[in-house]
Amino acid sequence: MSSPAWLLSWLLVAGPFDAIAPRPVFDTKVEPAETLRWTEACQRMAAKLGPSRGPWQANLRRAQSIEAFVRHTGRSRFEAAAVVGRTIWLQPRPVFERIPGSDAIRRHECVHLYLRHLGVPPLNPALEEALAIGLSGQAARLPAGRQLRAEGLRRAGAILAKPKDPAQLRSTLQDVVSTLWPRLQALSPRARLTQLRRAGAAKHGLGPFASPPRHTQGSAEPRDAEE
Ligand SMILES: [Zn+2]
Repeated sequence: MSSPAWLLSWLLVAGPFDAIAPRPVFDTKVEPAETLRWTEACQRMAAKLGPSRGPWQANLRRAQSIEAFVRHTGRSRFEAAAVVGRTIWLQPRPVFERIPGSDAIRRHECVHLYLRHLGVPPLNPALEEALAIGLSGQAARLPAGRQLRAEGLRRAGAILAKPKDPAQLRSTLQDVVSTLWPRLQALSPRARLTQLRRAGAAKHGLGPFASPPRHTQGSAEPRDAEE
């Protein structure tokens, strides 16, 4: 039995994102079970970010060594996985499997991957990490950080682009998530994507997120990372 065409068109126009969330088709060099976990994680994140046009094709690769991971991704050796263009790179299996929260890591990287599929250029890392940490569910386990203003966010973005050590990475992530995730979370998927595209087109990749929202309910004034 096939669905009536009118139902399909209604779903495309008005249906929930889950109904039309694309599923990535991976050109994969990792085990089928691991590839399936990535496929499902990415579809879940696409459902949260909003629909796209056209098939979603991506690559899944596992680095042969930690050194190879760093070479392929330009990221630090203490990160579990990283997206470069349309490719997800994983640390070698024993390394990846030692890192706790692998499901959340998959969802996190899928946010980066899907943003690129949607044509959103790489954003300021402060904004993009806050989004990936929030949508993946990692934010729930992150202690509260400080509220950053525009200059603090730009500094945080520079740190996140080249983190020196896990402690610095963690505290910077706490700050950007505390500052930006509540704002990202409050937006509808459609409005969020519009603002992210605006941020991608703006200098520093922060756009509308560079300044604090006009209506804040909290009593604490936002302040920069450095006193
Ligand atoms: Zn990330």
